[in-house]
Amino acid sequence: MHKYEQSLEYAKRMDKEDPLGSVRELFYYPTSTQNQTIYFCGNSLGLQPKKAKEEIEKILETWKNDAVEGWFIGEPDWLSINLDLEKSLARIVGAKPEEVALMNGLTVNLHLLFVSFYQPTKERIKILMEENAFPSDQYAVKSQLRFHGIDPEKGIIECKSRPGEKTLRSEDILKTIEEFGEEIALVWLPGLQYLTGQAFNMKTITQKAHEKGCIVGFDMAHSVGNIPHKLHDWGVDFAVWCNYKYINGGPGTVGGCFVHEKHFGEELNRFEGWWGGKRETMMLMQPDIDPIIGAAGWQISSHPVLQYASLKSALKIYDDLSLEEYFEKSKKLTGFLEFLIRNLGSENYEIITPANPDERGCQLSIGTINKGKELYEELANNGVVVDWREPNVIRVAPHPLYNTFEEVYVFVEILRKAVE
Ligand SMILES: *Cc1c(COP(=O)(O)O)cnc(C)c1O
Repeated sequence: MHKYEQSLEYAKRMDKEDPLGSVRELFYYPTSTQNQTIYFCGNSLGLQPKKAKEEIEKILETWKNDAVEGWFIGEPDWLSINLDLEKSLARIVGAKPEEVALMNGLTVNLHLLFVSFYQPTKERIKILMEENAFPSDQYAVKSQLRFHGIDPEKGIIECKSRPGEKTLRSEDILKTIEEFGEEIALVWLPGLQYLTGQAFNMKTITQKAHEKGCIVGFDMAHSVGNIPHKLHDWGVDFAVWCNYKYINGGPGTVGGCFVHEKHFGEELNRFEGWWGGKRETMMLMQPDIDPIIGAAGWQISSHPVLQYASLKSALKIYDDLSLEEYFEKSKKLTGFLEFLIRNLGSENYEIITPANPDERGCQLSIGTINKGKELYEELANNGVVVDWREPNVIRVAPHPLYNTFEEVYVFVEILRKAVE
């Protein structure tokens, strides 16, 4: 356990010793009307890399000067503009490059991969989810069930937290899989819960689900770039994520998905389009698809080239750093935040995120007890950008690429005044 100290000097010293300290300079830091801004909202939208504009302008230049030729010329040409980025992401999620594809948005990718991996049979129709899943996941899963003619009330098994507890126990998830596994077609869980900040043990869940013959998929919206993944080694069947939160790829940028290579040769249902076809043959305009063998086989439509540009500027930053150092810093930064908040000892709120650093990422969720939204507004009035989720949660997420220990210290001082 790291030993923290409650002082500004200590925070400044930590920043000085931080091997990732200079990375902050690669981002634009938002300015607000207040004289200082503390941005702890990377869980919702990551900051803009300074190189984003340059990367976007490169595309605009090619479009201006070479028009349609842009698909075939340039470094890289637009046809293959996804490849380097998929490689960068493969490293981040612990996958082989061919197991990662960029396409669409998260919820669209959820639907497309459910077409392949949610195959209810007479014996197995159910989808295991968590209670309080992100709304888009709930809407998507319910609509998938209805599409198969299954009543969502009957098709979903929900893992719940125990009475009086705020997070799910790993043992309870495993027990549910053990108990109902034979009826479950698909285990669909987040890598990290968006509201509580709880990280799930994806490795153990995958193992247990496979023992019971279930397919396992993860929504990694809040886990990608936030906690380490080894999707390939864990044997996860498929996963989807967005790249605009911790990855900093830009608002609404192209989403990511993972399909384990063990599924590449299988005959799966799939909704196809010409961009799932091999690049060498796609322009031959043949009546039948010559599919890419890999996750990219799930691509359907033309690359959103401009979206790739901002994502590229963000992934280049990751390419140049050690992920070990990155996650190490994240643990210290959030550990420091937790240490200071606990020292305040206020009865107006509680941290609902697990205290074990291996069961969370950088986000701490603060459940407010008395002051509620006033507390959030007080923070906002003091230049702090965090977010509020009904009915009573403030999410605070210091990002290891652009936040500092000093900001964490100053934030808690503002929090102290706000609760007084
Ligand atoms: C952010 C988030 C999404 C977003 O979905 P989009 O389709 O990209 O808008 C979905 N699921 C979870 C769990 C999220 O946190």
